[in-house]
Amino acid sequence: MPDDSRPGHVTLPSPLHPASRRAPSRRGLLTGVGLTAAALGLAACGAGGKDDGGSDGPTVIVGCYGLSYIAELVAGDAARVVNLAKPGIDPHDLELSVAEVAELEKADLIVTIPAFQASVDDAISSKGLQDAHLDVSTVVDLLPAAGGHGHDEETEETEEHGANDPHFWNDPTLLATVGDEISARLGKIASDRSDTFTANAKQAHEDLDTLDADLAKAFDEVDGPKPFVTSHTAFAYLAKRYGLEQIGITGIDPEAEPSPKRLLQLRDVIDERDLTTVFFETTASPKVAETLAKNVGVEAEELDNLETQLSPDTDYAAVMRENCKKLVASWT
Ligand SMILES: [Zn+2]
Repeated sequence: MPDDSRPGHVTLPSPLHPASRRAPSRRGLLTGVGLTAAALGLAACGAGGKDDGGSDGPTVIVGCYGLSYIAELVAGDAARVVNLAKPGIDPHDLELSVAEVAELEKADLIVTIPAFQASVDDAISSKGLQDAHLDVSTVVDLLPAAGGHGHDEETEETEEHGANDPHFWNDPTLLATVGDEISARLGKIASDRSDTFTANAKQAHEDLDTLDADLAKAFDEVDGPKPFVTSHTAFAYLAKRYGLEQIGITGIDPEAEPSPKRLLQLRDVIDERDLTTVFFETTASPKVAETLAKNVGVEAEELDNLETQLSPDTDYAAVMRENCKKLVASWT
């Protein structure tokens, strides 16, 4: 699973490579094999992992965890994947450092989602990197932007960002389709490795289909409508795929206390729809959802939007299953 200790997965050196994520493998070497191995391990790490087969393979750059998860599955040991999104930090509208722009210029493949990261789109056009660019909207149908998307509302960026909802990875079948395309593109870039990419993508596709079937079964076991209230409407693709109904807490600043008027409106929705839970996103302040929950007498619970990987022990599939479990629990 995506992890810094995985051969072939190489993140950029500091500052792109958070030291905290590298620490566990260093510790493992120190305690397990002794100083010589530790020194070797550190040298390999410092050199960007040039001890493995990925170093001379193509480089893929992505800007969120969902994309890095599928890109790493397809890459295996035969390509390196760089994720610009840092764990726990909102990847919407990320700013690029000079080093990151330089890395983009050297990349063999840059996978982007429209209306998500304008700085990456700008670098691609200003540096003429179109040949390396894979826009996911060319292979999967993106949904229109949700009216209540927490990042865009009340800013003029909405127009600039266009009209689609970027959070497509919450539908595992769409992620599998993007994986197939990454495989096809990598196979053209490094034709001697195309069999590896094809086999990896096939395995990833099968695993995502299994995840999809399991989620469908779990959601189908709940009768009737499946509404859920969330502070960040990042789950439209999940809702569409599995017949759920996402209700955004629109008109509420994620960092500020909601108005009494808005609280009353939300209470009405919760009463009407017989909801037990208000969900909030893991990367935002839970204050608003907790206030809502306290004021309208329902539970506050987290949904992980998978924009970054919040724990190295919990991968995409595990988070999808956990989100499903929490949603099902809110209706039963
Ligand atoms: Zn988002």
